[in-house]
Amino acid sequence: MSRLAYVNGRFLRHAEAGVSIEDRGYQLGDGIYEVWAVFDGKLADPKGHFARLERSLGELQIDMPMSRAALTVALRETVRRNKVRYGIVYLQVTRGVARRDHAFPTVPTAPTVVITARSGDSAAAQAKAAKGVSVITLPDNRWGRCDIKTINLLPNVLAKQAAREEGAFEAWLVDADGLVTEGASSNAWIVDADGVLRTRDIGANILRGVTRLTLIEVAKSAGYTIDERAFTVAEAKAAREAFLTGAGALVMPIVRIDDAPVANGHPGQVASALRAAYIQRAKQTSI
Ligand code: PLP
Repeated sequence: MSRLAYVNGRFLRHAEAGVSIEDRGYQLGDGIYEVWAVFDGKLADPKGHFARLERSLGELQIDMPMSRAALTVALRETVRRNKVRYGIVYLQVTRGVARRDHAFPTVPTAPTVVITARSGDSAAAQAKAAKGVSVITLPDNRWGRCDIKTINLLPNVLAKQAAREEGAFEAWLVDADGLVTEGASSNAWIVDADGVLRTRDIGANILRGVTRLTLIEVAKSAGYTIDERAFTVAEAKAAREAFLTGAGALVMPIVRIDDAPVANGHPGQVASALRAAYIQRAKQTSI
C-alpha cells in the first residue's frame, strides 16, 4: 500500500507530496507541529493536543487553518487512508508561501497544512519498555521559547544524534543550574527516594508535554504524589526510577543515565504500571 499525505486539503502520494520551496517553514522554520499517538485508529489525548496546537499557533500569530472539528476529520482521514491502527499522526502548519523575507508577509498568506500518519509496532514498543532505555545528558542550548512546539528543532536534532551515537535512546538536556529540563523529544521524570514522582514544572522553558499532563492525572488518580519540581542529574542517577513521556514513546522506563544504571538497571514498577495505565486511559479517551 502506498502512503498518502494530506497537503492543503488534498491527499497525495506520500513519496511525491511536497510544498513550495518558498514555504516559510522550509526557508525560515516559521511554523509549528503537533503529534498525536494513535490507538485503534483514533487520536489520543485530543483535548490537550488541540489546546497546545492553538496556543503554539497563537504565539506565532498564525491563524488556525480550520476548525478543530474540520482538523479532526482531516487527521482521522489521514490515519484511515494510511491504515494506521497504532502509531502516530503528524500535523505541520507553517505561515505559508511568500517571497523570502524574515518579517511576516504583508499580504494575507494561507498557512500550509501537511498531515502524515505512520504505523508503529506495538509489540516492539512493548518489548522496548520491558527492557528499558538509556539516556545521556547534555547542556540545554536551546532558545527561550521551548514552550512553543516549533519546527525549529536543530538543537534537539543534534542532541538526539549524539544520543544515537552513544547507543542511547534519548538525550536529557541540563540547564545552567545542573537541573534537567526535558529530553530532546520527551519530558523527563524520576521517582525519588520517597516514592514521589518528580517532573519539571511548566513554568520553566520546556514543552508542555500532553502525555506528561495526562500522566499527571493518571498518576494522581492511582494515588501517587506528584511534585512538579526540577531535579539534578545526580538526583536522577540516585532515583528509584526514571522514565520519559511523549506521544511517540508514551511512557518509557529509563534504566541507564550516562554511565550509571538507575537502581538495579531494570525498569521500575511504577514506570511500568504507569505505562499500562496511561495506555488504558488513552485508549478510552481517544477520538
Ligand atoms: N519535550 C519535547 C522537546 C518534545 O519534542 C516532546 C514531543 O515531541 C515532548 C516533550 C513530549 O510532548 P508530548 O507528550 O506532547 O508528545
